[in-house]
Amino acid sequence: MNFDLIEEHKMIRDMAKGFADEVIAPSAEEMERTGQYPYDIMNKMAELGMMGIPFPEKYGGSGGDWVGTHICIEEISRGDITLGALLDVTTSVTGQEIDVFGTEEQKKEWLVPIAQGTKIGAFALTEPDSGSDAGALRTRAVLEGDEWVLNGTKQFVTNIGLDNASIALIAAISGKGQRGNIISTFIVPKDAPGFQLGKGYEKMAWHGSATHEIILENCRIPKKNLLGDPSRGFAQHLAVLETGRISIAAVSVGVAQACLDEALHYARERTQFGRPIFDFQAIQFKLADMAVSIELARNQYLKAAWLKDQKRKHTFEATVAKLFASEMVEKVASDAVQIHGGYGYMDEYPVSRYYKGAKLLQIVEGTSEVQRMIIGRVLAGGM
Ligand SMILES: Cc1cc2nc3c(=O)[nH]c(=O)nc-3n(C[C@H](O)[C@H](O)[C@H](O)COP(=O)(O)OP(=O)(O)OC[C@H]3O[C@@H](n4cnc5c(N)ncnc54)[C@H](O)[C@@H]3O)c2cc1C
Repeated sequence: MNFDLIEEHKMIRDMAKGFADEVIAPSAEEMERTGQYPYDIMNKMAELGMMGIPFPEKYGGSGGDWVGTHICIEEISRGDITLGALLDVTTSVTGQEIDVFGTEEQKKEWLVPIAQGTKIGAFALTEPDSGSDAGALRTRAVLEGDEWVLNGTKQFVTNIGLDNASIALIAAISGKGQRGNIISTFIVPKDAPGFQLGKGYEKMAWHGSATHEIILENCRIPKKNLLGDPSRGFAQHLAVLETGRISIAAVSVGVAQACLDEALHYARERTQFGRPIFDFQAIQFKLADMAVSIELARNQYLKAAWLKDQKRKHTFEATVAKLFASEMVEKVASDAVQIHGGYGYMDEYPVSRYYKGAKLLQIVEGTSEVQRMIIGRVLAGGM
């Protein structure tokens, strides 16, 4: 067993860490406060190849692996949670689904710009009446001649509101089989006729992320935009969401590390009762617990990503990583605010932003309850 990072991973970590410290962190507070989308930063991330790490060079990527991708996601999330989530959605989920299930033509047309970061991909599964029960979706797709016609509403779609977002992967019912509805997945360009960007949501945090509704009213796309096996669209989605879980774990670890760094710094500076508060055992124990849980969560997401790179089954490890890390970051962020006392509640201190952002990690890409359901199924021998 070897826990050392290989040279390639160290290079990715150092590059992403330097970028997060020098480019992202200085503008993260303004981004969150103003809700301005960080196009400049995204373009620089694209130039550094961050969106294409796991994809083959012939499709615009750098031929790297999933461990490297997730080390990058952790470091970027330490700078800003929404940019870590951007890598999750555009690379780990949307890009990967096209890479694994797409035709040569689809990869050239849609994956290359996503891998190069000139375009951003979105993943639209959730609907008003189907969240955790994602298979209960209602959007329908009907083949008319050479076109699929889609009708339905998708909601809470991360980053589809960005000007540089090109497509959404959309799951829809395309027929009826012996075991119920047949669900297929489609590559739906944002400029397809009948594709309407719905309202942008007012959110508790994540203001650098353009979350919108999508309304499909007789939305017409070419027949060739069907992605993968028409009868396995839902299974394809679930397969890439497994990687999404590792990515959300890496985002969680990045945010938690930022919380620990800030809390440690503050505890050394802040004096009460004539001593830095770091000297009080109650504060040191909190910091120690934060460091322990971050270390464990980091090891777990790396293990899950490594198993994926070995092409080995990793349902359990990815789900454990997501559940543990997202629960961990909410607690760590809360403790970081606590260590800051009243100042931690003020927007000018980053921990206030981290705390609000962390909550969502227990919800997106499967709530903590859903993760426990999956782990329960694995324990029961069903997965
Ligand atoms: C900011 C934001 C961005 C998002 N981005 C995307 C995106 O890009 N693409 C996308 O497709 N979706 C996205 N989502 C949707 C997200 O994945 C869902 O919100 C999430 O899966 C939960 O679904 P829901 O909100 O409908 O909650 P519900 O499914 O209604 O759940 C409500 C509560 O009930 C619990 N619950 C549900 N079923 C069970 C059960 N069987 N047992 C125990 N408890 C249960 C849940 O855990 C939760 O606590 C986003 C959401 C947000 C808020």
